[in-house]
Amino acid sequence: MKIGVYAGSFDPITFGHLDIINRAEKLFEKVIILIAESKTKKHLFSLNERKEMIEELFKGNKKIKVEVLNGLLAEYMKKNDFKFVIRGLRAISDFDYEFQYSTINRELNENIETVFLMTEPKYFYLNSSLVKEIVSLKGKAKELVPELIEKKLKEKLG
Ligand code: ADP
Repeated sequence: MKIGVYAGSFDPITFGHLDIINRAEKLFEKVIILIAESKTKKHLFSLNERKEMIEELFKGNKKIKVEVLNGLLAEYMKKNDFKFVIRGLRAISDFDYEFQYSTINRELNENIETVFLMTEPKYFYLNSSLVKEIVSLKGKAKELVPELIEKKLKEKLG
């Protein structure tokens, strides 16, 4: 079975991420949304909160599985014998980081192939930090995240 692993922080998941997932579903038989914790980044939602929210959004969709990453992505891929990592690209500014990320993953596990999907132009500017900023300043995030996520953001930041 062709499985794609979409790894990221998803803090929280946005329409930009969802667009990448919809498109990845056409390329892979199964897409695993893999939520990663970074020790160097401060997260608003805990790993479990992020997992629950994403599971709720994909309830009933058998092609999608949500998992939490403990440790290194390269190790997770090796352990499960998965080969394809999915990442999204927005502006050129993403390129440098994504290039480093895919190169280091390949250094750690030579079987990993990273598949990049370009963002829809309308989500070009969209990232999780921006959404958090907008909601904390009492702005509307209706066009940026699903209703459920906006509600959870308001509970945390409102
Ligand atoms: P990370 O902290 O690992 O970069 P993110 O949750 O910020 O995690 O992003 C996960 C992946 O999704 C990254 O490859 C990122 O470039 C991509 N991504 C995030 N927002 C968008 C968007 N609006 N359009 C396309 N790709 C996106």
